[in-house]
Amino acid sequence: MSFQDLESPLSFLESTQINFRSPQWLKEYEAWWQAEGQGISDAVDRAGTPWLRMFDLSGKRVDQILYSPEYWRMLKHGYRSGWLLGQSGNGIYLILEVLNASRVANSLGSVALAQRAMADALSFARNRMVFGKLLIEQPLMRRQFDERFRQLRAAARLAWKSLELLNEVWQQRPPYSDRYHLFRLVAHLSKYWSAELAVQTAKWSMEVHGGLGTLQEFRAERWLREAMILAIWEGPSHRQILDALEVMERKHAHKLLFQHLSGLAPTSDLETMQAQIERHLTRAKKWKQERKRWLRAWPYLLLMR
Ligand SMILES: Cc1cc2nc3c(=O)[nH]c(=O)nc-3n(C[C@H](O)[C@H](O)[C@H](O)COP(=O)(O)OP(=O)(O)OC[C@H]3O[C@@H](n4cnc5c(N)ncnc54)[C@H](O)[C@@H]3O)c2cc1C
Repeated sequence: MSFQDLESPLSFLESTQINFRSPQWLKEYEAWWQAEGQGISDAVDRAGTPWLRMFDLSGKRVDQILYSPEYWRMLKHGYRSGWLLGQSGNGIYLILEVLNASRVANSLGSVALAQRAMADALSFARNRMVFGKLLIEQPLMRRQFDERFRQLRAAARLAWKSLELLNEVWQQRPPYSDRYHLFRLVAHLSKYWSAELAVQTAKWSMEVHGGLGTLQEFRAERWLREAMILAIWEGPSHRQILDALEVMERKHAHKLLFQHLSGLAPTSDLETMQAQIERHLTRAKKWKQERKRWLRAWPYLLLMR
């Protein structure tokens, strides 16, 4: 396996996505980032995250979010004053639509962080001599690089799939289509796995650097610090698991996913996996029915005491 694609974020993205070719503006941005951006980013981190403002070339501020007038009104008057964002009764849908979009962004951010952490580890391993060989040439280390690169590419494909699906369904409003439910399941899977991968890759990258991995100068510890939040905000792992279960139970999104995967993976593997999921879902349903019965009986049990 060649690690060449790991060295630049854009070549990594191109190598993992079938239909992605970097536009010229993105290539220019990457060149700027390598020449100047990286230095600014390092300096900002060492200064302890100072108050940062960004401006475009004409001096206009570009780091502020443009909120709608309804949002400002709500901030001013408070949630309870009767100012509604959108239609009454639709609040939960609005929140979930926003959350699902930000989970896709989180997935791409997680993959980007893991790619950077791995590229730094690679650069270190290509220069560090241990026991008469470059670190990257030690068989155990080489094997870990191969395995982690494979996982990183898989996470990138999953994150990109969630983006493609979001692109298709983001304008849908309730009642949502099956395609939307498929998107929801893929977004939960992607948020969960990519955030976990980012943390694990950043931790491993520190280990590859050995003792130097704990020093700020080598950046490796920064990736772990930054990766930790990816698994918490936009809903921690438990939330992703519970919401994914809900969309499978109520909307049968797993069947849509298996339909989507048919032809891409061996049929027998897909059938085995689907049967396992169905078994778990039935078990959960039975457990809930049992629990409902107990909850109904609970007041009578108290009376009997
Ligand atoms: C730096 C930072 C920035 C943030 N920015 C924003 C922002 O801009 N906008 C915004 O709206 N929010 C923001 N958040 C909030 C963030 O989304 C929440 O912190 C996050 O979703 C977790 O919710 P919580 O803190 O209430 O944890 P809790 O809900 O108290 O969860 C605590 C733990 O319990 C687990 N848990 C909860 N329920 C269950 C259950 N039923 N079963 C099993 N386990 C469960 C959780 O997974 C978690 O591990 C931000 C948070 C941080 C740390």
